Amino acid sequence: MIEDKVYAASSILVVGAHAFDAEVIAGPLAAAAVKRGASVTFLHLTMGEQGHPCLVPAHYCVQKEEEAGRAAGRLGVTLRSLGLHDAFLPSDDETALKVCDVVRELKPEVVITHWHGSWHKDHRAAAHLTQTGIFFAALPTIARDHAAHTPSLLLFGENWEDDDGFRPEHLVDVSDGFDAWTEAVREYELARGLSSFPYVDYYSALYRLRGCLRGTRHAQAFAAASHSWNAGSGLFAPPAGKGSSR
Ligand SMILES: [Zn+2]
Repeated sequence: MIEDKVYAASSILVVGAHAFDAEVIAGPLAAAAVKRGASVTFLHLTMGEQGHPCLVPAHYCVQKEEEAGRAAGRLGVTLRSLGLHDAFLPSDDETALKVCDVVRELKPEVVITHWHGSWHKDHRAAAHLTQTGIFFAALPTIARDHAAHTPSLLLFGENWEDDDGFRPEHLVDVSDGFDAWTEAVREYELARGLSSFPYVDYYSALYRLRGCLRGTRHAQAFAAASHSWNAGSGLFAPPAGKGSSR
């Protein structure tokens, strides 16, 4: 069961296009996993600094860095940022190698990112960069600072902007993490009325709705990578018991 695999992990990496994306696609799960002893890292590819109607991006970037730090503290997760530019997130091999480096350094068993079916170009790029980064991370012939590593599970989280073709294949009980998530997202001005989109209402209702179907108070939905992608990326890892990090 996916839920058992997620909560058995000692290291989980969540890759989001903009600060606040990781918090919604896996925030309650992250808090619940931390409570169970896991180490969870949020990798914000950009800070989402173009999203303020009044502040110039440079100023909003500073604000979002502070908000992201406080939110991470509430969830108990570690933060990483690649410092790339919001709305201009490159979807190329050079950037995927930066994601590869984080995967190799942290050696997560579970990686969670965006579903690729999104209206937002940065979200599509984040999904692509994460899959390509994992592909590069698994290839021992690619020499980087850290040794090759293959996560054992890649999941795509639920985000209102990434709804094109998303299927809630797996529901994970995140009841233990919901209260921390509620406090964490309110650290962001984005969740306190900056946006016309009612983020807190939407995601609170969504996690509750998924919980109704899971039989728990709250749950988060995830789609899995294809069988062929899982098998293909795993081919590059050493055999189990022969130095594999899996
Ligand atoms: Zn976003």
